[in-house]
Amino acid sequence: MTTNPSPLLIDRFGRIVDYLRVSITDRCDFRCIYCMSENMEFLPRAQILSLEEIEKVCRAFVELGVHKIRITGGEPMVRKGAMDLLRNIGRLEGLRELVLTTNGSQLEALAGDLKACGVKRINISLDTLDAALFKQMTRVGDLNTVLRGIDAAIAADFQRIKLNAVILKNRNHQEVRKLVDFAIAKRIDISFIEEMPLGMIESHDRAEEYYSSDQIKADLESHLTLLPDTTHTGGPSRYFRVADSETKVGFISPHSHNFCGDCNRVRLTAEGRLLLCLGNEHSVDLKQILRSNPDNLPALKNAIVDAMQIKPEKHDFDLSEKPVIFRHMSVTGG
Ligand code: SAM
Ligand code: SF4
Repeated sequence: MTTNPSPLLIDRFGRIVDYLRVSITDRCDFRCIYCMSENMEFLPRAQILSLEEIEKVCRAFVELGVHKIRITGGEPMVRKGAMDLLRNIGRLEGLRELVLTTNGSQLEALAGDLKACGVKRINISLDTLDAALFKQMTRVGDLNTVLRGIDAAIAADFQRIKLNAVILKNRNHQEVRKLVDFAIAKRIDISFIEEMPLGMIESHDRAEEYYSSDQIKADLESHLTLLPDTTHTGGPSRYFRVADSETKVGFISPHSHNFCGDCNRVRLTAEGRLLLCLGNEHSVDLKQILRSNPDNLPALKNAIVDAMQIKPEKHDFDLSEKPVIFRHMSVTGG
């Protein structure tokens, strides 16, 4: 099967969907304070898609014109069999880019295998370079393990490595310059993300700790020059190049710069829900379709095509309200 040249996945607003993000588990070896509550209940195994089911959904999407798939979670690397799944997805004809988002905890051992599986680019979360603060923000993570993982990823020579940092006021906002200096020294990129109100958390008040992309940019510009970068990656990041370096700095600003007009993506949750928008609950239960008729790929593809009709125009996050979206980012796949 070759990819159909005319797009098959188009929503009511004329946006072409060619990018799928897949959460392969809601579990994680970290408990980041903005992502999870301290005592999370995870889904029972029977409720999450099997690796075969995930692969089937990916195949259906690629046959419908999706050419980029991001594997995420939870922490994708803690799912048993993740490497085989990645290898199989990487072989799908028509898929141009298989990419991964990880917290880096397993990268020291797995970076080389990931590259061999066909993973082209990798995003690694890193909110601080201070070991004590890292422990506080992840609740359990070890900074040095992640730093060794980043070095292993660099040695494995991925096409691109990008750090992701969620910035919270009076917690890690003082870290932004050090993080950019680190990215420059390692010759990799970095994106700063505004915290989104997904799921109930108890560690902090999201509105009180909101720190905007514009504030981060201003902080950085007092020390270095950011030149607008014209290459458009089709994602929500607005990129700038740090003068006299190879590093790009991105800003993902769901509150301050709405990016929904360009949205080209949908998400598959760990429990098999096709989620049409990160900030809304519009979804289709693909697990039910898969399990009631496991060998019917056309039925699955029809359901995916039809789902495009309920993709919402935009998200509307409001930090002053209790979260309206009860699902945590770890279930959704960030
Ligand atoms: N465990 C992997 C990791 O941390 O990279 C992949 C999954 S994680 C949910 C994906 C990304 O979502 C991470 O960069 C994380 O920092 C970000 N994230 C989690 N919760 C968030 C929230 N409430 N608002 C904004 N970003 C969030
Ligand atoms: Fe785990 Fe990633 Fe969520 Fe942190 S952000 S708790 S590493 S899924």
